[in-house]
Amino acid sequence: MAVIKDKILVIEDEKSINYLIGTVLTANGYDVIKAYTGTEACQMLDAYCPDLIILDLGLPDMDGVDIIRRIRGWSVVPIIVVSARTRERDKIEALDLGADDYLTKPFGGGELLARIRTALRHTRTQAAD
Ligand code: CA
Repeated sequence: MAVIKDKILVIEDEKSINYLIGTVLTANGYDVIKAYTGTEACQMLDAYCPDLIILDLGLPDMDGVDIIRRIRGWSVVPIIVVSARTRERDKIEALDLGADDYLTKPFGGGELLARIRTALRHTRTQAAD
């Protein structure tokens, strides 16, 4: 019986963090697609239709907030923000624009996985309605 893996797009310009997240996700049975810039992320969104997105706000070519805005124009795919920005208003802005969750760096792999399971569970529940 083939198991269909959830596809997760990781948008993070810091190579070491992108690598770490990718390793944790792959080890836990997810398919991982990686983007290092906003432009790359937008191309991959169209090409791969991921089941969930992990998004860093501080990207070299655009602000992650603009990516949230863009995605929410056409998709309800869950978005989990991972950011070094700890100010409350950054969190509020990201969540109000349509992010499903917000994790402040540094965070543990276990917590990230738990948040991913929660976000995916919510989409599944909505889809079943
Ligand atoms: Ca960054």
